[in-house]
Amino acid sequence: MPSVFNKLIVAAIPAIPKFIVRKFASPYIAGEKLEDALTTIKKLNSKGAMATCDLLGEFIHHKEQATRDKEELKNLLFAINKEKLNSNVSLKPTQMGLLLDEEFAYQNIRELVALAKEQGNFIRIDMEDSPCTQKEIDLYLRLRKEFDNVGLVIQAYMKRTDADVDLLIANRANLRLCKGIYVEPESVAIKDKQAIRDNFLKQVEKMFVNKCYVGVATHDEFLVDETLKLIEKHKVSKEDFEFQMLLGVLPKLRDSLLAKGFRLRVYVPYGEQWYGYSTRRFKENPEIAGYVVKALFGLN
Ligand SMILES: Cc1cc2nc3c(=O)[nH]c(=O)nc-3n(C[C@H](O)[C@H](O)[C@H](O)COP(=O)(O)OP(=O)(O)OC[C@H]3O[C@@H](n4cnc5c(N)ncnc54)[C@H](O)[C@@H]3O)c2cc1C
Repeated sequence: MPSVFNKLIVAAIPAIPKFIVRKFASPYIAGEKLEDALTTIKKLNSKGAMATCDLLGEFIHHKEQATRDKEELKNLLFAINKEKLNSNVSLKPTQMGLLLDEEFAYQNIRELVALAKEQGNFIRIDMEDSPCTQKEIDLYLRLRKEFDNVGLVIQAYMKRTDADVDLLIANRANLRLCKGIYVEPESVAIKDKQAIRDNFLKQVEKMFVNKCYVGVATHDEFLVDETLKLIEKHKVSKEDFEFQMLLGVLPKLRDSLLAKGFRLRVYVPYGEQWYGYSTRRFKENPEIAGYVVKALFGLN
């Protein structure tokens, strides 16, 4: 599809009625309720995949929303524990109030990490857009002093990532590495696709060499293949890393890695706040946004 058309489609997303967006979002989200998430996790576990479950929500405006979501996340942790599911939890610090009151957000996340610790579970802190990067690294390092069951996400498109990964490795971090999904200015983010891939692989190799547990989060077959070569080169054992993919994206690639015996975790988002998450996915893949527009005009 020509890129001008793609850009037009992406620009049109806010004007598309929510019920149409919802229809096309459905492969990417487990559903709106906790039970929907549990059902999806069970299915994934039965196929040999692990999960990381995310309650949708971000950039909240009122502390009450953070408190409500924290309580829901506690229920999620209790349910995972009760049903003995192979799933940890991912959360976004802005959902816990990071942009309203940093100490409030820290205490919310600390409470969840402490509960996860009691249950032998793990919390992954997602990385959000660049105004949050330093705050989220600081928050993580503070938690890491007290807990070993907490990890952070690092984005290969950020120019600062090389230095951040050095600092995080020195602090024995557990990391998920992804390309990065937010639209960032050129002043902070690498824009060239191959340069982002090169940085991704540079960071994966550093993590392998330094025995830093990494979740290699990508659907890019080039990156998967190159990661497999690095695994060979550095004789990395299957217990020291995992692949991670998003629910609904390239399940065939996911199945092929599972068939080779690799640890693979699927990111399972659920909840009522599905709009922001879904439209970011459409912006990443304008072909799907194109289907949405066609549906809107009755062209499907
Ligand atoms: C487990 C996990 C957690 C993540 N957590 C974060 C985070 O905390 N912060 C953050 O900024 N980003 C996060 N991301 C998103 C990530 O940064 C990328 O935006 C996203 O994974 C796409 O990059 P890619 O490496 O898959 O490569 P791409 O080149 O974007 O995609 C490779 C191929 O995957 C397929 N594909 C990709 N996206 C879609 C889609 N939406 N629908 C259908 N097919 C698609 C296409 O075939 C595409 O050619 C996460 C990704 C994963 C897998």
